[in-house]
Amino acid sequence: MSAQILDGKAIAANLRNTIQQEVTVITGSGQRPPGLAVILVGDDPASQVYVRNKQKACEEVGFLSELIRLEPDTKESSLLALIDELNRREEIDGILVQLPLPDQIDEETIIERILPTKDVDGFHPYNFGRLALRMPLLRPCTPKGIMTMLEYTGMELAGKDAVIIGQSNIVGRPMALELLMARCTITVCHSRTKNLSDKIRAADIVVSAVGRPGFVQGNWIQPGATVIDVGINRQEDGKLCGDVDFASASKVASWITPVPGGVGPMTIATLLENTLQATKLHTAAK
Ligand code: NAD
Repeated sequence: MSAQILDGKAIAANLRNTIQQEVTVITGSGQRPPGLAVILVGDDPASQVYVRNKQKACEEVGFLSELIRLEPDTKESSLLALIDELNRREEIDGILVQLPLPDQIDEETIIERILPTKDVDGFHPYNFGRLALRMPLLRPCTPKGIMTMLEYTGMELAGKDAVIIGQSNIVGRPMALELLMARCTITVCHSRTKNLSDKIRAADIVVSAVGRPGFVQGNWIQPGATVIDVGINRQEDGKLCGDVDFASASKVASWITPVPGGVGPMTIATLLENTLQATKLHTAAK
């Protein structure tokens, strides 16, 4: 058996296309385009790449995009003041603070300061709580993008056994809530989980968000399972790879996401989707 590739690059391109068409309709009717402000504190190389990709994607679909770069020694109070200003600005629908932040700034304090309707990352406790209560508003981008990919397979999710490896606030936890909302039976694994491979062998859907190359082996995968690889790991030769040993897992899975070209592009396209959703919330509130 050989798995079908769940092509995040192609699905993301479709999503961006739909968003671009909506933006054309919005601006054609005389309204302003959706606006996203991205704040980058410091000069972390990976963050710079992510921010550049997000900005490029915004421009491609016709959004207003504003990149605000701050020095690595920026004080928490200065960042809070900037967020207050962006919260007030009408042409800004989404505020994204690229993580991680330098040590002198508390991430939770910053995230909580963003107006929930401008929290396009979906990390504010208000949006997270809404997701937990099955009344989602702005949903974290990576798990939401994965749900879009799963929808693309056409598979019935209700009743499936899903195993998530990783319990972070940005991937593992919201992923569990998304799959639970889709009526999967979920198991969330982490660094203290016992008999991990046995749990994975019982899964119809495996989502790996660990950050270790080759962590999930092909012989851990149930034949016919769907494998979603969130991991982004830089190898010694500079190339990117995921957490899953793609060569062996793709022989047994029914669907598998590649790295690169899987979850990554979906995360960015979903950020655009969330920003457009925020624009609609702001327009409706007027
Ligand atoms: P994290 O470091 O916050 O979380 C990693 C998780 O892996 C933890 O919950 C930990 O308990 C678990 N873990 C570690 N060792 C384990 C083990 N031996 N067995 C089981 N679980 C174990 O990381 P994160 O922010 O959730 O990111 C995870 C990976 O996903 C990273 O490679 C990151 O770069 C990538 N990522 C990709 C995207 C994307 O858009 N594709 C988005 C976010 C994160």
